Amino acid sequence: MNILVCVKQVPDTTIIKIDPVTNTLVRDGVPSILNPFDSYAMEAAARIKDKDPDTKIVIVSMGPSQAEAVVRECLAVGGDTGYLVSDRAFGGSDTLATSYIIACAIKKIEEIEGKFDMIFCGKQAIDGDTAQVGCEIAEHLDLPQVTYGLTCEAEADRLKVYKEIDGGQQVVGVKYPCLITFTKPAFDMRYPSVKSKLAARKKEITTLTVDAFPDIDRACIGLKGSPTRVKKTFVPPVKQGGVVIKEETDAESAVKLVSLLDEANII
Ligand SMILES: Cc1cc2nc3c(=O)[nH]c(=O)nc-3n(C[C@H](O)[C@H](O)[C@H](O)COP(=O)(O)OP(=O)(O)OC[C@H]3O[C@@H](n4cnc5c(N)ncnc54)[C@H](O)[C@@H]3O)c2cc1C
Repeated sequence: MNILVCVKQVPDTTIIKIDPVTNTLVRDGVPSILNPFDSYAMEAAARIKDKDPDTKIVIVSMGPSQAEAVVRECLAVGGDTGYLVSDRAFGGSDTLATSYIIACAIKKIEEIEGKFDMIFCGKQAIDGDTAQVGCEIAEHLDLPQVTYGLTCEAEADRLKVYKEIDGGQQVVGVKYPCLITFTKPAFDMRYPSVKSKLAARKKEITTLTVDAFPDIDRACIGLKGSPTRVKKTFVPPVKQGGVVIKEETDAESAVKLVSLLDEANII
């Protein structure tokens, strides 16, 4: 099996701040991490490789040179080869442009690594949070897609995906080649060993610039090729604590509530 895992480097949103003047994310001094949903996609690929050691796992990320770190993190837990799609021409891309560039990159990488049976993505990136890129890549490449994957099993002619649905799970069979987006399963990505970390450090990560894609439509990439425009970002006002009514009995609490609503001219 030949699997491609798409991973994005994101700021650790648990400690993110918004610049009150510019209303943009303050990225300075904020550590970057592997998008958690992409780590679940990586683990799903690694589990397929556990059962079939002939499986090859290729990692791709689009972003600035620092994004190499998340590619290397995945190389340390089962990834075989890594690619970084990086060029100033890609800067400012919205999800449509991002997915188009990644789809072009996948076609290029397939010339080197062979056709992919499966493309794994996270459900969403925790910074952009749109959950559009994976689905859009599937559309650009005309692949069947299954979203909200939890776990999967590779069968001879199809992938069995256990996907999250409201109140339970659904099992879907999808023919190769296919694209799956993963949500949080009951486990996390495995930890690398010291040995696998050292081996990953030595692996070469190939950078693909815009020149690697001679057929790319330059009108569809970067800020100019992005139909989405962010008009405004803002931090929602923090809600006030509210009033807690806790009288001796429920009946007394109800009476108190009615009198407070009456005083406020609400009823
Ligand atoms: C008008 C506009 C301008 C923007 N300008 C910039 C900018 O200048 N710089 C900037 O950094 N961002 C910019 N963004 C944000 C950028 O478009 C998104 O970060 C990007 O398109 C991915 O979308 P998302 O984060 O919502 O990913 P989602 O759709 O939530 O991600 C789903 C999955 O797709 C895959 N994926 C997503 N992005 C990547 C990636 N880069 N590499 C590999 N796999 C990936 C991952 O598997 C991920 O889990 C801009 C957005 C808009 C709308």
